[in-house]
Amino acid sequence: MNDLHARHRAVLPEWLALYYDRPIEITHGEGRHVWDADGNRYLDFFGGILTTMTAHALPEVTKAVAEQAGRIIHSSTLYLNRPMVELAERIASLSGIPDARVFFTTSGTEANDTALLLATAHRGSNQILAMRNSYHGRSFSTVSVTGNSAWSPTSLSPLQTLYVHGGVRTRGPYAHLSDADFTAACVADLEDLLGHTRAPAALIAEPVQGVGGFTAPPDGLYAAFREVLQRHGILWISDEVQTGWGRTGDHFWGWQAHDRNGPPDLLTFAKGIGNGMSVGGVVARAEVMNSLDANSISTFGGSPLTMAAANANLAHLLEHDLQGNARRVGGLLIERLRAIGAQVAAVREVRGRGLMIGVELVRPGTDEADPGAAARVLEHAREHGLLIGKGGGHSTSVLRIAPPLSLTVAEAEEGAAVLEGALRSL
Ligand code: PMP
Repeated sequence: MNDLHARHRAVLPEWLALYYDRPIEITHGEGRHVWDADGNRYLDFFGGILTTMTAHALPEVTKAVAEQAGRIIHSSTLYLNRPMVELAERIASLSGIPDARVFFTTSGTEANDTALLLATAHRGSNQILAMRNSYHGRSFSTVSVTGNSAWSPTSLSPLQTLYVHGGVRTRGPYAHLSDADFTAACVADLEDLLGHTRAPAALIAEPVQGVGGFTAPPDGLYAAFREVLQRHGILWISDEVQTGWGRTGDHFWGWQAHDRNGPPDLLTFAKGIGNGMSVGGVVARAEVMNSLDANSISTFGGSPLTMAAANANLAHLLEHDLQGNARRVGGLLIERLRAIGAQVAAVREVRGRGLMIGVELVRPGTDEADPGAAARVLEHAREHGLLIGKGGGHSTSVLRIAPPLSLTVAEAEEGAAVLEGALRSL
């Protein structure tokens, strides 16, 4: 244990997750690469989710932040805030939600917390529908709708949460069903559940589950859910914290893969849109957003500094069609990983869309999740200059690949070669 690790252990909570036997201290970054305190360089296949949609140290963002910091770093509310209004206008028009209003927060947790507050206030109900295996944050209300027990430390809840089938389909009673039969079974289950409940306020769901191991329901499942929800007047909150901004390649938002019945009532975002600055938020129809009958502010959500970063970052993302890049380069990477996976008995499935790719590991010849193998792949990749993430529902046995969306074909090849070595060494 190095000195900083020992100090971290001594003063920070035990439950503050750290990767690797010897955790890395990242000191700087550029593009798709980061460097550690020992001078090692890593290709970053996970920072796209954690930190940056575009690229580390994107010059436009650095410039915008420096300029804004040189002028004023103030609270976001009580006075007019030009960068916040500009970003809200952009996001409202990109959201697809009619008559959209935007409220900025400092994290995805706070964004979902706010969405739950709005939905419960709007509907006068504290019942929430959530998906099994979901992750929505670490506050009291968001752990209450987090179905993944590894990340949900308390069963005491301010909400009454009912978990719906559909989040994971690799295991469980419906695993063997075809897409159509799986969808029908999940919809029947939802209908059955609603027959026993009062009136839930909303369903909160990730279009592709992130922490849960990059699993997505079959296309059409959420659209079918939506029909049922609309019949009951139940709101749909799409948690786009991982799937937003073009990460899935084919769509700008994850909900668009399931849009037969139009946009969600509320959408939440965060993570890499601020390129490392604390930006999160909720978009909702005006009628839902304006459900609160008292004043509210977020002192730092929407601060001019973080808004300047997000404006510059979003402009870059759109101008350079990084969604298209995610589709093209992600498509090649998925293909390459599938070819590797076909030759490695421990790989159960390579799945994903765009640059949100999961590799699920099992004990060879079985269907048993293998978190030990995932940990070994992470360590091996790190030793060979590649950072990846891990996640998964029943255990942490899914490798998670989510680089910045500017990933080049050469970098995708380089990362795939390291992963091939790591997987073959299992
Ligand atoms: N929703 C989803 C889908 C997430 O993946 C996360 C973070 N992993 C959050 C919400 C919470 O975001 P934050 O960590 O910024 O609070």
